[in-house]
Amino acid sequence: MSTTASEALFARAQQVSPGGVNSPVRAFRAVGGTPRFMKSGAGAWLTDADDNRYVDLVGSWGPMLLGHAHPEVIEAVTAAAARGTSFGTPAEPEVLLAEEIVARTPVERVRMVSSGTEATMSAIRLARGFTGRDRIVKFSGCYHGHVDALLAEAGSGVVTLGIPGTPGVPAHVTADTIVLPYNDPAAVDAAFAEYGDQIACVITEAAAGNMGVVPPHPGFNEHLSRTCAAHGALFITDEVMTGFRAARSGYWEIDGQVEGWQPDLMTFGKVMGGGFPAAAFGGRADVMDLLAPVGPVYQAGTLSGNPVATTAGLTTLRLATPEVYERLSATSSQVQHLVSEALAEAGVAHTLQTAGTMFSIFWGVAEPVADFAGAQAQDTAAYTAFFHAMLDAGVYLPPSAYEAWFLSAAHDPDVDSEPLSRLAEALPGAAR
Ligand code: PLP
Repeated sequence: MSTTASEALFARAQQVSPGGVNSPVRAFRAVGGTPRFMKSGAGAWLTDADDNRYVDLVGSWGPMLLGHAHPEVIEAVTAAAARGTSFGTPAEPEVLLAEEIVARTPVERVRMVSSGTEATMSAIRLARGFTGRDRIVKFSGCYHGHVDALLAEAGSGVVTLGIPGTPGVPAHVTADTIVLPYNDPAAVDAAFAEYGDQIACVITEAAAGNMGVVPPHPGFNEHLSRTCAAHGALFITDEVMTGFRAARSGYWEIDGQVEGWQPDLMTFGKVMGGGFPAAAFGGRADVMDLLAPVGPVYQAGTLSGNPVATTAGLTTLRLATPEVYERLSATSSQVQHLVSEALAEAGVAHTLQTAGTMFSIFWGVAEPVADFAGAQAQDTAAYTAFFHAMLDAGVYLPPSAYEAWFLSAAHDPDVDSEPLSRLAEALPGAAR
Protein backbone atom coordinates (compact mmCIF):
# COMPACT_ATOMS: atom_id res chain seq x y z
CA MET A 1 0.00 0.00 0.00
CA SER A 2 1.62 3.26 -1.12
CA THR A 3 1.29 6.25 1.19
CA THR A 4 3.56 8.71 -0.60
CA ALA A 5 0.81 11.26 -1.33
CA SER A 6 -0.35 11.25 2.33
CA GLU A 7 3.26 11.58 3.47
CA ALA A 8 3.84 14.56 1.16
CA LEU A 9 0.66 16.26 2.32
CA PHE A 10 1.52 15.60 5.96
CA ALA A 11 4.98 17.15 5.50
CA ARG A 12 3.42 20.26 3.95
CA ALA A 13 0.68 20.40 6.58
CA GLN A 14 3.25 20.38 9.39
CA GLN A 15 4.83 23.51 7.90
CA VAL A 16 1.61 25.47 8.19
CA SER A 17 -0.46 23.82 10.96
CA PRO A 18 0.60 22.66 14.45
CA GLY A 19 1.27 18.92 14.14
CA GLY A 20 -0.13 19.04 10.60
CA VAL A 21 -3.72 18.69 11.80
CA ASN A 22 -6.73 20.68 12.93
CA SER A 23 -7.69 18.35 15.77
CA PRO A 24 -5.01 16.43 17.70
CA VAL A 25 -6.17 12.79 17.51
CA ARG A 26 -6.10 12.92 13.69
CA ALA A 27 -2.28 13.10 13.84
CA PHE A 28 -1.88 9.37 14.72
CA ARG A 29 0.35 10.28 17.68
CA ALA A 30 -1.19 7.50 19.82
CA VAL A 31 -0.50 4.82 17.21
CA GLY A 32 2.41 6.30 15.23
CA GLY A 33 2.78 6.49 11.47
CA THR A 34 1.47 8.91 8.88
CA PRO A 35 -2.17 9.97 9.05
CA ARG A 36 -4.03 9.16 5.88
CA PHE A 37 -5.28 12.24 4.03
CA MET A 38 -8.70 11.29 2.75
CA LYS A 39 -9.95 12.74 -0.51
CA SER A 40 -13.37 11.15 -0.81
CA GLY A 41 -15.92 9.03 0.94
CA ALA A 42 -18.85 7.01 -0.38
CA GLY A 43 -21.14 4.94 1.80
CA ALA A 44 -18.99 2.77 4.11
CA TRP A 45 -15.76 3.57 2.25
CA LEU A 46 -13.02 6.18 2.36
CA THR A 47 -10.40 6.80 -0.34
CA ASP A 48 -7.09 8.42 0.54
CA ALA A 49 -4.79 10.67 -1.46
CA ASP A 50 -2.91 7.59 -2.77
CA ASP A 51 -6.20 6.03 -3.95
CA ASN A 52 -6.19 3.37 -1.22
CA ARG A 53 -9.71 2.34 -0.21
CA TYR A 54 -10.66 1.65 3.39
CA VAL A 55 -13.73 0.31 5.13
CA ASP A 56 -14.48 3.22 7.46
CA LEU A 57 -15.17 2.43 11.11
CA VAL A 58 -14.62 5.98 12.34
CA GLY A 59 -17.45 7.75 10.51
CA SER A 60 -15.88 11.18 11.05
CA TRP A 61 -15.98 10.37 14.81
CA GLY A 62 -19.71 9.78 14.79
CA PRO A 63 -21.63 12.12 12.48
CA MET A 64 -21.83 9.88 9.39
CA LEU A 65 -24.82 7.80 10.52
CA LEU A 66 -25.95 7.20 6.94
CA GLY A 67 -22.47 6.74 5.50
CA HIS A 68 -20.49 9.16 3.35
CA ALA A 69 -22.05 11.30 0.63
CA HIS A 70 -25.54 9.87 1.00
CA PRO A 71 -27.22 10.89 -2.28
CA GLU A 72 -30.30 12.47 -0.66
CA VAL A 73 -28.21 14.44 1.84
CA ILE A 74 -25.91 15.69 -0.92
CA GLU A 75 -28.90 16.68 -3.07
CA ALA A 76 -30.55 18.60 -0.21
CA VAL A 77 -27.30 20.31 0.77
CA THR A 78 -26.49 21.26 -2.82
CA ALA A 79 -29.94 22.79 -3.26
CA ALA A 80 -29.64 24.64 0.07
CA ALA A 81 -26.20 26.00 -0.84
CA ALA A 82 -27.53 27.20 -4.20
CA ARG A 83 -30.18 29.22 -2.34
CA GLY A 84 -27.47 30.95 -0.29
CA THR A 85 -25.04 29.77 2.34
CA SER A 86 -25.75 32.10 5.26
CA PHE A 87 -28.26 34.86 5.84
CA GLY A 88 -27.70 35.99 9.42
CA THR A 89 -31.48 35.86 9.82
CA PRO A 90 -33.78 33.11 11.02
CA ALA A 91 -34.63 30.61 8.25
CA GLU A 92 -36.93 27.62 7.85
CA PRO A 93 -34.38 24.73 8.02
CA GLU A 94 -33.34 25.59 11.59
CA VAL A 95 -36.99 25.58 12.70
CA LEU A 96 -37.57 22.20 11.06
CA LEU A 97 -34.43 20.75 12.65
CA ALA A 98 -35.39 22.10 16.08
CA GLU A 99 -38.88 20.59 15.66
CA GLU A 100 -37.32 17.24 14.74
CA ILE A 101 -35.08 17.31 17.85
CA VAL A 102 -38.00 18.28 20.10
CA ALA A 103 -40.06 15.43 18.61
CA ARG A 104 -37.33 12.83 19.17
CA THR A 105 -36.00 13.81 22.60
CA PRO A 106 -37.38 15.09 25.94
CA VAL A 107 -36.23 18.70 25.29
CA GLU A 108 -38.83 21.45 24.93
CA ARG A 109 -36.66 24.20 23.42
CA VAL A 110 -33.49 24.06 21.34
CA ARG A 111 -30.72 26.61 20.66
CA MET A 112 -28.45 25.83 17.70
CA VAL A 113 -24.68 26.29 17.85
CA SER A 114 -21.82 25.15 15.60
CA SER A 115 -19.94 22.56 17.68
CA GLY A 116 -20.43 20.20 20.60
CA THR A 117 -17.94 22.29 22.57
CA GLU A 118 -20.13 25.36 22.16
CA ALA A 119 -23.17 23.33 23.18
CA THR A 120 -21.71 22.15 26.50
CA MET A 121 -20.09 25.53 27.22
CA SER A 122 -23.42 27.28 26.70
CA ALA A 123 -25.40 24.69 28.70
CA ILE A 124 -23.03 25.19 31.66
CA ARG A 125 -23.41 28.98 31.42
CA LEU A 126 -27.17 28.63 31.32
CA ALA A 127 -27.19 26.29 34.34
CA ARG A 128 -25.07 28.76 36.27
CA GLY A 129 -27.32 31.63 35.20
CA PHE A 130 -30.48 29.73 36.14
CA THR A 131 -29.29 28.58 39.57
CA GLY A 132 -27.12 31.58 40.49
CA ARG A 133 -24.45 29.04 41.55
CA ASP A 134 -20.90 28.53 40.26
CA ARG A 135 -19.80 24.98 41.03
CA ILE A 136 -20.22 22.21 38.48
CA VAL A 137 -19.71 18.45 38.66
CA LYS A 138 -18.19 16.33 35.89
CA PHE A 139 -16.77 12.81 35.71
CA SER A 140 -13.23 11.58 35.00
CA GLY A 141 -12.92 10.18 31.50
CA CYS A 142 -16.01 12.01 30.22
CA TYR A 143 -15.15 14.51 27.48
CA HIS A 144 -17.41 17.44 26.72
CA GLY A 145 -15.29 19.31 24.17
CA HIS A 146 -12.47 21.71 24.92
CA VAL A 147 -14.40 24.02 27.24
CA ASP A 148 -11.91 25.60 29.72
CA ALA A 149 -13.91 24.73 32.85
CA LEU A 150 -14.45 21.15 31.64
CA LEU A 151 -10.79 20.48 30.84
CA ALA A 152 -10.25 19.67 34.49
CA GLU A 153 -8.61 16.74 36.18
CA ALA A 154 -9.50 15.34 39.56
CA GLY A 155 -7.51 16.48 42.57
CA SER A 156 -6.16 13.85 44.94
CA GLY A 157 -9.04 13.52 47.46
CA VAL A 158 -12.42 11.89 46.92
CA VAL A 159 -14.13 15.23 46.51
CA THR A 160 -11.62 17.88 45.56
CA LEU A 161 -11.82 20.86 43.29
CA GLY A 162 -10.56 20.38 39.76
CA ILE A 163 -7.10 21.24 38.56
CA PRO A 164 -6.53 22.39 34.95
CA GLY A 165 -6.12 19.50 32.52
CA THR A 166 -4.02 21.59 30.13
CA PRO A 167 -1.69 24.59 30.17
CA GLY A 168 -3.63 27.69 29.16
CA VAL A 169 -6.51 27.10 31.56
CA PRO A 170 -6.06 29.24 34.68
CA ALA A 171 -6.44 27.39 38.00
CA HIS A 172 -9.30 29.68 39.03
CA VAL A 173 -11.31 28.61 35.95
CA THR A 174 -11.38 24.96 37.07
CA ALA A 175 -11.57 25.75 40.80
CA ASP A 176 -15.35 25.48 40.61
CA THR A 177 -15.25 22.17 38.73
CA ILE A 178 -15.61 19.07 40.90
CA VAL A 179 -14.28 15.98 39.09
CA LEU A 180 -15.64 12.64 40.32
CA PRO A 181 -15.10 9.00 39.35
CA TYR A 182 -17.68 7.73 36.85
CA ASN A 183 -20.31 5.22 38.00
CA ASP A 184 -19.66 6.06 41.65
CA PRO A 185 -22.90 7.23 43.34
CA ALA A 186 -21.18 7.45 46.75
CA ALA A 187 -18.73 10.03 45.39
CA VAL A 188 -21.68 12.01 44.04
CA ASP A 189 -23.39 11.87 47.43
CA ALA A 190 -20.20 13.01 49.15
CA ALA A 191 -19.83 15.96 46.75
CA PHE A 192 -23.43 17.04 47.32
CA ALA A 193 -23.08 16.59 51.09
CA GLU A 194 -20.24 19.08 51.05
CA TYR A 195 -21.20 21.51 48.28
CA GLY A 196 -24.88 20.76 47.56
CA ASP A 197 -26.16 24.34 47.85
CA GLN A 198 -23.34 25.65 45.62
CA ILE A 199 -23.63 23.20 42.72
CA ALA A 200 -25.22 24.61 39.55
CA CYS A 201 -25.24 21.37 37.59
CA VAL A 202 -23.94 17.89 37.01
CA ILE A 203 -22.83 17.20 33.43
CA THR A 204 -22.27 13.65 32.24
CA GLU A 205 -22.03 11.88 28.92
CA ALA A 206 -25.38 10.07 28.65
CA ALA A 207 -23.21 6.98 28.20
CA ALA A 208 -19.48 7.57 28.29
CA GLY A 209 -17.90 7.15 24.86
CA ASN A 210 -14.68 9.09 25.18
CA MET A 211 -12.75 6.63 27.38
CA GLY A 212 -13.93 3.83 25.14
CA VAL A 213 -17.58 2.93 25.62
CA VAL A 214 -18.42 2.77 29.33
CA PRO A 215 -22.18 2.69 29.85
CA PRO A 216 -23.61 4.04 33.09
CA HIS A 217 -24.45 1.32 35.59
CA PRO A 218 -28.21 0.76 35.86
CA GLY A 219 -29.62 3.55 38.01
CA PHE A 220 -26.49 5.76 37.91
CA ASN A 221 -27.93 8.47 35.67
CA GLU A 222 -31.23 8.24 37.54
CA HIS A 223 -29.31 8.80 40.78
CA LEU A 224 -27.69 11.89 39.26
CA SER A 225 -31.09 13.16 38.15
CA ARG A 226 -32.66 12.65 41.59
CA THR A 227 -29.68 14.11 43.45
CA CYS A 228 -29.69 17.23 41.29
CA ALA A 229 -33.44 17.66 41.78
CA ALA A 230 -33.09 17.27 45.56
CA HIS A 231 -30.46 20.02 45.72
CA GLY A 232 -31.83 22.49 43.18
CA ALA A 233 -29.06 21.74 40.68
CA LEU A 234 -29.63 21.03 36.98
CA PHE A 235 -28.85 17.67 35.38
CA ILE A 236 -27.19 17.96 31.96
CA THR A 237 -26.76 14.88 29.79
CA ASP A 238 -24.25 15.32 26.98
CA GLU A 239 -25.56 13.43 23.96
CA VAL A 240 -23.17 14.97 21.44
CA MET A 241 -21.84 11.48 20.68
CA THR A 242 -24.78 9.26 21.65
CA GLY A 243 -27.62 11.47 20.38
CA PHE A 244 -29.46 9.96 17.37
CA ARG A 245 -26.69 7.32 17.29
CA ALA A 246 -26.90 4.99 20.31
CA ALA A 247 -30.62 4.77 19.50
CA ARG A 248 -33.15 6.85 17.53
CA SER A 249 -33.37 9.53 20.22
CA GLY A 250 -30.06 8.84 21.87
CA TYR A 251 -28.97 7.03 24.99
CA TRP A 252 -31.82 8.62 26.97
CA GLU A 253 -34.22 6.38 25.07
CA ILE A 254 -32.48 3.32 26.53
CA ASP A 255 -32.00 4.80 30.00
CA GLY A 256 -34.15 7.76 31.13
CA GLN A 257 -37.20 6.91 29.08
CA VAL A 258 -37.21 3.40 30.55
CA GLU A 259 -36.37 4.41 34.13
CA GLY A 260 -38.67 7.44 34.09
CA TRP A 261 -36.40 10.45 34.50
CA GLN A 262 -35.59 13.42 32.26
CA PRO A 263 -32.51 15.61 32.06
CA ASP A 264 -33.01 19.35 32.59
CA LEU A 265 -30.67 20.17 29.72
CA MET A 266 -29.16 18.08 26.92
CA THR A 267 -26.43 18.71 24.38
CA PHE A 268 -26.31 17.39 20.83
CA GLY A 269 -23.85 17.48 17.91
CA LYS A 270 -22.29 15.03 15.45
CA VAL A 271 -25.26 13.14 13.83
CA MET A 272 -27.57 16.15 14.02
CA GLY A 273 -25.20 18.06 11.71
CA GLY A 274 -25.09 15.31 9.07
CA GLY A 275 -21.36 15.96 8.56
CA PHE A 276 -21.63 19.76 8.83
CA PRO A 277 -20.84 22.01 11.81
CA ALA A 278 -24.22 22.00 13.56
CA ALA A 279 -24.80 21.26 17.23
CA ALA A 280 -27.37 22.31 19.83
CA PHE A 281 -28.35 22.40 23.45
CA GLY A 282 -31.90 22.18 24.69
CA GLY A 283 -34.09 21.35 27.63
CA ARG A 284 -36.84 22.54 29.93
CA ALA A 285 -38.65 25.57 28.56
CA ASP A 286 -38.38 27.52 31.83
CA VAL A 287 -34.59 27.06 31.83
CA MET A 288 -34.06 27.64 28.10
CA ASP A 289 -36.18 30.81 28.18
CA LEU A 290 -33.55 32.40 30.38
CA LEU A 291 -31.42 32.71 27.22
CA ALA A 292 -31.19 36.03 25.37
CA PRO A 293 -33.28 37.51 23.83
CA VAL A 294 -36.03 36.24 26.19
CA GLY A 295 -33.88 36.25 29.30
CA PRO A 296 -30.59 37.70 30.50
CA VAL A 297 -28.13 34.81 29.82
CA TYR A 298 -26.13 35.82 26.75
CA GLN A 299 -25.36 33.31 24.01
CA ALA A 300 -24.98 33.90 20.26
CA GLY A 301 -23.31 32.79 17.01
CA THR A 302 -22.79 34.26 13.51
CA LEU A 303 -23.27 30.86 11.85
CA SER A 304 -25.61 29.29 14.44
CA GLY A 305 -28.48 27.47 12.69
CA ASN A 306 -26.68 27.85 9.35
CA PRO A 307 -29.12 26.92 6.55
CA VAL A 308 -26.79 24.47 4.77
CA ALA A 309 -25.68 22.74 7.99
CA THR A 310 -29.21 22.47 9.38
CA THR A 311 -30.46 21.13 6.04
CA ALA A 312 -27.79 18.42 6.20
CA GLY A 313 -28.83 17.57 9.76
CA LEU A 314 -32.54 17.63 9.05
CA THR A 315 -32.18 15.43 5.96
CA THR A 316 -30.01 12.98 7.92
CA LEU A 317 -32.48 12.75 10.82
CA ARG A 318 -35.46 12.35 8.48
CA LEU A 319 -33.68 9.47 6.74
CA ALA A 320 -32.73 7.93 10.10
CA THR A 321 -35.86 5.81 10.43
CA PRO A 322 -36.37 3.00 12.96
CA GLU A 323 -35.25 0.59 10.18
CA VAL A 324 -31.93 2.42 9.96
CA TYR A 325 -31.31 1.86 13.67
CA GLU A 326 -32.29 -1.81 13.34
CA ARG A 327 -29.76 -2.22 10.53
CA LEU A 328 -27.11 -0.33 12.47
CA SER A 329 -27.74 -2.54 15.47
CA ALA A 330 -27.46 -5.71 13.35
CA THR A 331 -24.20 -4.53 11.77
CA SER A 332 -22.83 -3.47 15.14
CA SER A 333 -23.56 -6.92 16.63
CA GLN A 334 -22.00 -8.63 13.62
CA VAL A 335 -18.79 -6.56 13.81
CA GLN A 336 -18.55 -7.10 17.57
CA HIS A 337 -18.94 -10.83 17.03
CA LEU A 338 -16.28 -10.93 14.30
CA VAL A 339 -13.72 -8.97 16.29
CA SER A 340 -14.37 -10.81 19.52
CA GLU A 341 -14.11 -14.18 17.80
CA ALA A 342 -10.81 -13.28 16.10
CA LEU A 343 -9.32 -11.95 19.34
CA ALA A 344 -10.48 -14.99 21.30
CA GLU A 345 -9.00 -17.35 18.71
CA ALA A 346 -5.70 -15.48 18.90
CA GLY A 347 -5.82 -15.67 22.71
CA VAL A 348 -6.01 -11.88 23.16
CA ALA A 349 -7.77 -10.87 26.39
CA HIS A 350 -10.33 -8.18 25.69
CA THR A 351 -13.57 -6.68 26.94
CA LEU A 352 -16.25 -5.52 24.58
CA GLN A 353 -18.68 -2.87 25.81
CA THR A 354 -21.76 -1.37 24.21
CA ALA A 355 -24.12 1.55 24.60
CA GLY A 356 -27.01 0.99 22.22
CA THR A 357 -25.53 0.64 18.74
CA MET A 358 -22.18 2.06 19.92
CA PHE A 359 -19.35 -0.17 21.06
CA SER A 360 -15.64 -0.31 21.76
CA ILE A 361 -13.09 -2.91 22.76
CA PHE A 362 -10.68 -2.73 25.69
CA TRP A 363 -7.44 -4.50 24.84
CA GLY A 364 -5.83 -6.71 27.45
CA VAL A 365 -8.67 -6.13 29.93
CA ALA A 366 -10.64 -9.13 31.15
CA GLU A 367 -13.07 -7.35 33.53
CA PRO A 368 -15.96 -5.01 32.70
CA VAL A 369 -14.74 -1.40 32.63
CA ALA A 370 -16.73 0.92 34.89
CA ASP A 371 -14.62 4.07 35.01
CA PHE A 372 -11.57 5.90 33.69
CA ALA A 373 -9.13 4.00 35.91
CA GLY A 374 -10.45 0.74 34.46
CA ALA A 375 -10.19 2.09 30.91
CA GLN A 376 -6.58 3.13 31.51
CA ALA A 377 -5.64 -0.45 32.39
CA GLN A 378 -5.72 -1.36 28.70
CA ASP A 379 -2.79 -2.60 26.67
CA THR A 380 -2.53 0.28 24.19
CA ALA A 381 0.58 -1.22 22.54
CA ALA A 382 -1.43 -4.30 21.56
CA TYR A 383 -4.11 -2.04 20.04
CA THR A 384 -1.46 -0.12 18.10
CA ALA A 385 -0.22 -3.31 16.42
CA PHE A 386 -3.80 -4.36 15.63
CA PHE A 387 -4.67 -0.90 14.30
CA HIS A 388 -1.75 -0.87 11.84
CA ALA A 389 -2.40 -4.39 10.62
CA MET A 390 -6.04 -3.47 9.95
CA LEU A 391 -5.03 -0.20 8.27
CA ASP A 392 -2.65 -2.05 5.97
CA ALA A 393 -5.48 -4.43 5.12
CA GLY A 394 -7.76 -1.50 4.20
CA VAL A 395 -9.82 -1.12 7.38
CA TYR A 396 -9.83 2.32 8.96
CA LEU A 397 -10.20 2.13 12.76
CA PRO A 398 -9.95 4.94 15.32
CA PRO A 399 -6.27 5.84 15.77
CA SER A 400 -6.55 5.46 19.54
CA ALA A 401 -7.57 2.64 21.88
CA TYR A 402 -9.85 5.03 23.81
CA GLU A 403 -12.41 5.61 21.08
CA ALA A 404 -15.73 4.12 20.11
CA TRP A 405 -15.98 2.43 16.71
CA PHE A 406 -18.62 4.03 14.48
CA LEU A 407 -20.61 2.20 11.84
CA SER A 408 -23.21 3.52 9.44
CA ALA A 409 -26.38 2.39 7.73
CA ALA A 410 -24.26 2.03 4.58
CA HIS A 411 -22.38 -0.90 6.16
CA ASP A 412 -24.11 -4.10 5.13
CA PRO A 413 -24.69 -6.40 8.13
CA ASP A 414 -24.28 -9.45 5.86
CA VAL A 415 -20.84 -10.87 6.64
CA ASP A 416 -20.44 -12.21 3.10
CA SER A 417 -20.91 -8.85 1.43
CA GLU A 418 -18.53 -5.93 1.27
CA PRO A 419 -17.48 -4.19 3.44
CA LEU A 420 -17.82 -6.71 6.28
CA SER A 421 -16.09 -9.46 4.29
CA ARG A 422 -12.99 -7.25 4.05
CA LEU A 423 -13.11 -6.79 7.81
CA ALA A 424 -13.56 -10.52 8.38
CA GLU A 425 -10.59 -11.34 6.12
CA ALA A 426 -8.32 -8.82 7.83
CA LEU A 427 -9.15 -9.75 11.41
CA PRO A 428 -7.38 -13.10 11.98
CA GLY A 429 -4.01 -11.75 10.81
CA ALA A 430 -4.36 -8.49 12.74
CA ALA A 431 -5.47 -10.19 15.96
CA ARG A 432 -2.33 -12.33 16.13
N1 PLP B 1 -19.31 16.09 24.01
C1 PLP B 1 -19.03 14.83 23.67
C2 PLP B 1 -19.66 13.70 24.42
C3 PLP B 1 -18.16 14.56 22.60
O1 PLP B 1 -17.88 13.29 22.27
C4 PLP B 1 -17.58 15.65 21.92
C5 PLP B 1 -16.64 15.43 20.81
O2 PLP B 1 -16.16 14.34 20.57
C6 PLP B 1 -17.91 16.96 22.32
C7 PLP B 1 -18.78 17.14 23.36
C8 PLP B 1 -17.32 18.13 21.61
O3 PLP B 1 -17.87 18.25 20.33
P1 PLP B 1 -17.08 19.06 19.19
O4 PLP B 1 -15.88 18.25 18.85
O5 PLP B 1 -18.08 19.17 18.08
O6 PLP B 1 -16.73 20.39 19.77
